[in-house]
Amino acid sequence: MQDDLKDVERRLAAFERRQSFAGQLEAYALSRLNHVLFRQLFNLALVAALFLTGHFAASLGALGLLMLGELVDCGYLSTVPRRIARGKDDLGKLYRRTAITAGLQALTAAVSGLIPIVVSSAPGAVITSVAYVSCISINAGLLVHHHRLATQARLAMLLATAAIIVFIQTGRGGFADENMLFNTVGMILMFSLVYSFISFALRGYLSQISRSRDLLQRSKALARANEELAFRQEEIRRLALVARNASDSIFMADADGKILWVNEAFTEMTGYPPDEAIGTTPAELLDSEQTDPEVSEQIISSVRKGIPLRTEILNRRKDGKEIWVETNQVPVCRADGSVEFVIAIERDITDARRHAEELAAAKRAAEKGERAKAQFLATMSHEIRTPMNGIIGMAELLRDAQLPKEHASYVETIRYSAEALMRIINDILDFSKLDAGKSVICAVDFDLLACVEGALSILRPKAVENGIYLDLDCAGPLPERLHGDDGRIRQILINIVGNAIKFTHKGGVTLRLSSEPRQDGALLTFEVIDTGIGIAPDRLSTIFDEFNQADGEVTRKYGGTGLGLTISRILAREMGGDITIRSTEGEGSHFTITLPLGNAAQPEAAPPVPGAEDAPEERPIRLDGVKALVADDNKTNRLVIRRYLGETGLDIVYARDGREAVKLTRRHTPRIVFMDMSMPEMDGLTATRQIRADSALEQPTIVALTANSFASDKAACLSAGMDGFLTKPFKRGELLDWLSQL
Ligand code: ADP
Repeated sequence: MQDDLKDVERRLAAFERRQSFAGQLEAYALSRLNHVLFRQLFNLALVAALFLTGHFAASLGALGLLMLGELVDCGYLSTVPRRIARGKDDLGKLYRRTAITAGLQALTAAVSGLIPIVVSSAPGAVITSVAYVSCISINAGLLVHHHRLATQARLAMLLATAAIIVFIQTGRGGFADENMLFNTVGMILMFSLVYSFISFALRGYLSQISRSRDLLQRSKALARANEELAFRQEEIRRLALVARNASDSIFMADADGKILWVNEAFTEMTGYPPDEAIGTTPAELLDSEQTDPEVSEQIISSVRKGIPLRTEILNRRKDGKEIWVETNQVPVCRADGSVEFVIAIERDITDARRHAEELAAAKRAAEKGERAKAQFLATMSHEIRTPMNGIIGMAELLRDAQLPKEHASYVETIRYSAEALMRIINDILDFSKLDAGKSVICAVDFDLLACVEGALSILRPKAVENGIYLDLDCAGPLPERLHGDDGRIRQILINIVGNAIKFTHKGGVTLRLSSEPRQDGALLTFEVIDTGIGIAPDRLSTIFDEFNQADGEVTRKYGGTGLGLTISRILAREMGGDITIRSTEGEGSHFTITLPLGNAAQPEAAPPVPGAEDAPEERPIRLDGVKALVADDNKTNRLVIRRYLGETGLDIVYARDGREAVKLTRRHTPRIVFMDMSMPEMDGLTATRQIRADSALEQPTIVALTANSFASDKAACLSAGMDGFLTKPFKRGELLDWLSQL
């Protein structure tokens, strides 16, 4: 039976405790006490010898003396184990005191040992004395390893006795006495014997102690090794259990790829029991015609090179069903780097792959849907803008005609309604773009006050119509020029100030503008404060949600789509700012727009950009005889442009498709071409590219006329070589503005 480590350690500790100073002292005391009766055999022999030879008094004296010695010594020794256990006594003192009691006991034995030769001169008396002293000496000497000092004290006392015996004998017979010489030599021999015996016993004892210690230490090492072994065995058992019962398939293969062991999950996954799998390679067992040979080769080569590999492979189960497996091959190498065996952990990922494929398909479908939606919006925008161009253009032309007042008001209503419809279309387009996470911010250097004034000038007629004031209050100094998207800032202001005007019937609207300088620009704050109908507290938190209006009554009364605030806030946030609102129902609202803007690169005013969102002021332009080309497949639009440009004196040529536009440009070399983007036969972009590619041609200014309003369309026009971009429905002023630059 294997020794338990703890047990061996306990035994070793007890052994070392026994070998310690205190342990030896205790062992000495116990040994003396345990052998007290045995020692009395020597004493009784001595007393009996005296008694039987008629020395009654001497025998009684010897008995008394001997008992006294034992009593003093054993009496004190019997307290020693208790004292040691208590731990209070100084061990050194105990050691010395026990040496003294040993000396006293030895003294009584020595004196008793002398009695036979003192009371009798018979030759046997000497033998008795010497034999007694020798016995007592041997007995004392046997404990030398436990208590050296006590033994030394005893032996000294007994040696002195021997000397006294010689001295007495010398006194009796003189040095020449033959008897005395024999006695002396006999005594020396006897004591040599005692000495040899004691030193032999001591050596034996010491070597036994050393052997015992050695044995115990070996037992300890063995017990520790056993324990380690048991631990390892348990670990191996657990690992084997884990591997066997793991839900992942596990197999071990040798360096040639031959399977050595498989777990239950392997059998479950592949259908092959261990006896069919062991000895074959995974490729032989599991590859199908569909398995990618490259992946298979990659696995084999990484095993050969001892490189771990994680990959996915198509396997065929025993029942013929194909499964996708994720395999993780871990080669275990020897010290010299050669592959000892390979552990492969595998998992059936067929469902996961199918799921991923479904997700990817769903994503593709969603993206397709998103593209379809964007396409739909672009188409709708285009399709609606084209006729709207006709409606607004014709209404504008009619406005300028001398119409009866009633008819003029009809025309104005048509124009107003068409523009309102355009705003709704623009809002929906903007929102769909912003909602799709597309950035619509395009930063340029701009004039701050021109931008703000531009927005207010559009809104002022409505304020006048409502009979309310519209003030601009500039609090503190403002930067002249900044870097940001002025178009979008104007859009936000038109939305928020426009709402304020719409919902205010008395008092008015103040736009307070302030600026706080920043390291690389300024933080602008626009506060729009109105004295209008205000917003109920419970609606305030949702007022920025899309399609949200204060209530049904407001919608009926004021119209609108409920998108303006949503778009404005998204735009402000896109620019790094925000819009917040405070409002009291019946008293008015206070919108705060904060926008961090950058510093403008060029300090001087930039030239006005043709094609800006708002129509510039119309001014009379004369370009008599200057050639222009208008390419548009829509007859109404051609008519609108003809009327718009009628008073300029331009010599206009019209083309109905891109091919004709290129032909007529070559023939007439116009100074300016207004080019519709989508036309039959050849679109405007291709036509422009062909014109630009014609090096023999005097190149005209080409301006796109398009119902497509996305930034990508503008970019496409510019990269095709166009100079500008006008979105339908355009205003007469926008056309004239381009002409003014010729
Ligand atoms: P709409 O196109 O309907 O005006 P908005 O998003 O611009 O859409 O506004 C949403 C709603 O917020 C409005 O219908 C109106 O109820 C409310 N609202 C916006 N501005 C104000 C304002 N200054 N005073 C009162 N109500 C306002």
